[in-house]
Amino acid sequence: MIPRQFEYHAPDSIPDALGLLTRFGDEAKLLAGGHSLLPMMKLRFAQPGHLIDLAKINELKSIHETGGTLRIGAMTTEHELIASKLLQEKCPLLVEGARLIADPQVRYKGTIGGDISHGDPGNDHPALMLALGASFVLKGASGERVVPADGFFVGTYDTLMEPGEIMTEIRIPTPTAGAGYCYAKLKRKVGDFATAAAAVVLRRKGETVVEVAIALTNVGPTALKARAAEDSLRGKALSDASIAEAARLAMGICEPVADQRGDAEYKTAMAGEMTQRALRMAYSRASH
Ligand SMILES: Cc1cc2nc3c(=O)[nH]c(=O)nc-3n(C[C@H](O)[C@H](O)[C@H](O)COP(=O)(O)OP(=O)(O)OC[C@H]3O[C@@H](n4cnc5c(N)ncnc54)[C@H](O)[C@@H]3O)c2cc1C
Repeated sequence: MIPRQFEYHAPDSIPDALGLLTRFGDEAKLLAGGHSLLPMMKLRFAQPGHLIDLAKINELKSIHETGGTLRIGAMTTEHELIASKLLQEKCPLLVEGARLIADPQVRYKGTIGGDISHGDPGNDHPALMLALGASFVLKGASGERVVPADGFFVGTYDTLMEPGEIMTEIRIPTPTAGAGYCYAKLKRKVGDFATAAAAVVLRRKGETVVEVAIALTNVGPTALKARAAEDSLRGKALSDASIAEAARLAMGICEPVADQRGDAEYKTAMAGEMTQRALRMAYSRASH
């Protein structure tokens, strides 16, 4: 299919991009890597008259750490996340997750900001962001706000972002040294979205789980934070029984949509299986 005709803009600063967004209003769409937006335009699910490409805005592309916070520009590609020595050392969960996204072609162009802004429950970054306790910097004509990932995803393709705002930065509290982590993703083949996936960050002291975060991909209208499962594990030794109970509680919040990847029962079971795998791996990787 061929998209509707549109006018292309390539501003080189955030104020210029915001100016274009204000000027064209509902007719405008931001373009990042294009790997979600362009397919939607070809199917005519999205029909913007103006595309505002963020590719020339250099300040949207850095990865650095200040004051115990990792700051990642929204236009950083999956490939750049994977190649980042800083993230490999300080936030390996993000690197592990990015490596499981799509295929190299998508990873060279697709951006973390686009993946999050799109609000697709099948995308992997939302659950990674929930597990890492991230927040997002949103800039609009009237200023800047910082919103936590927890609560940002309100429905399928729906987030707290207002029309006229640009996500400029992703902030992640630098994970405690020695924290265990895992992103367990079941997919039918290389390059596919998750049938179900679980992101886990875990700290332990000896056998005891001191802190744990669990988030799920593609088993609900948004990425899901598995709070009851987390609560069931804190302050206790990890065992086969506690892992099984956490998985049961995680499965209890799943509401997947049946599709070619499986029916709701199968996807829910796989969310439990991924939760178990991620917990075991994160626990074994955590210093104690
Ligand atoms: C074959 C294939 C397989 C894929 N598999 C996976 C997968 O396994 N896991 C996964 O997570 N993703 C997957 N994707 C999606 C891919 O990661 C996309 O790149 C991603 O969803 C969107 O990022 P983008 O940079 O391409 O954004 P775009 O497609 O350019 O934009 C997506 C949406 O976000 C908005 N947007 C973009 N940037 C910003 C910003 N900075 N501020 C505000 N709004 C913004 C756009 O206006 C648009 O509405 C796959 C895509 C393809 C084509």
